[in-house]
Amino acid sequence: MTYSRPNVQRLAAYVPGEQPNGGDVIKLNTNENPYPPCDAVMAAIASVSPQQLRRYPAPAAQAFREAAARLHGVEPSQIIATNGGDELLRLVLTAFCPVGAGGSVAVAEPSYSLYPVLADIHGTSVTRVELGDAFDLPDDFADRALAADCRVILLVNPHAPSGRLEPLDKLEAIGRRVVGRAVLVVDEAYVDFAQRDALPLLDPSRGLDNVLLLRTLSKGYSLAGLRFGYGIGHADLIATLDKVRDSYNTDALAQAAAVAAVTHRDEAARTWSAVRDQRARLTDELTARGWSVLPSEANFVLTTPGAARGVANADLVRGIYESLKGRGILVRYFDQDRLRDKLRITVGSPGENDALLAALDEIERSR
Ligand SMILES: *Cc1c(COP(=O)(O)O)cnc(C)c1O
Repeated sequence: MTYSRPNVQRLAAYVPGEQPNGGDVIKLNTNENPYPPCDAVMAAIASVSPQQLRRYPAPAAQAFREAAARLHGVEPSQIIATNGGDELLRLVLTAFCPVGAGGSVAVAEPSYSLYPVLADIHGTSVTRVELGDAFDLPDDFADRALAADCRVILLVNPHAPSGRLEPLDKLEAIGRRVVGRAVLVVDEAYVDFAQRDALPLLDPSRGLDNVLLLRTLSKGYSLAGLRFGYGIGHADLIATLDKVRDSYNTDALAQAAAVAAVTHRDEAARTWSAVRDQRARLTDELTARGWSVLPSEANFVLTTPGAARGVANADLVRGIYESLKGRGILVRYFDQDRLRDKLRITVGSPGENDALLAALDEIERSR
């Protein structure tokens, strides 16, 4: 006997990167920031009073909305706080996607594998549009999404897992093409490591009332364990999302930490430039070993081992992945089209990257 809805019964659940408990593991598999959150964040958590925990938290995280609005030069009514960026994605589907026939979610392929899982849970169909050779968005992306009657478009920029940053005018053209028909979510989970964000699209003069930006404190602010993200968009979009969230979707500890994190953004920004430096170094070092590395604007690189010698293949790459794991270094391997001959490696601290490169040289010598 099964009690599940048919779509849930059929569902292949999302598979997160490995999260080993404890141990001496160098974790370069889930794009966490290698540096700790800043002192102000830890102090904010420590200063939460018993009284604050006894009571329910601020339902809409008003203090956070105000802090984030100041930071981005928008109104607090344009911000929604969520339990991680992932909750925002779920709210978007609940608010904007019909269940069953009619309407779909458009995604680029490949990209964040949680998108189709959330669509399956919701019970809406997924339109997958294949990316170009450089993991670039095809020019007819919006047309294909509209042809499939999409109500939501989910695009991650900088793209995961490639790290590619699409030009703003390309995103704007997609948003404009679907205005009045679909919501365009620009998932900016990695934007803190990039040279620009998509905030200019929200300028009222552009008239894009259908664009929603996703932000998270998990990557840039070193707070993956906290579960805090937010959306930025037109006040009407935000009000709709606000209707469908849990009454207390973010907790008091997370709200306190999140306010401190965005008000002390400069401290997080120091880690972003350290990560960018190490990203350049990792790119150079891997290239020098004959691996190809896609230009990345995120805190990871997508690399093809053995590319220069023309020996790239899935077996070689899986072997390297396993050998690294045997040496206590986790990177990400995706057993899916276009990614089987590649590894996605999170940029670590200088010491972690030293260890990674030394391990790769050892593996190469022992082959
Ligand atoms: C990390 C990530 C998110 C959000 O993650 P949370 O930890 O839930 O905030 C969203 N999209 C992509 C592509 C991500 O990598």
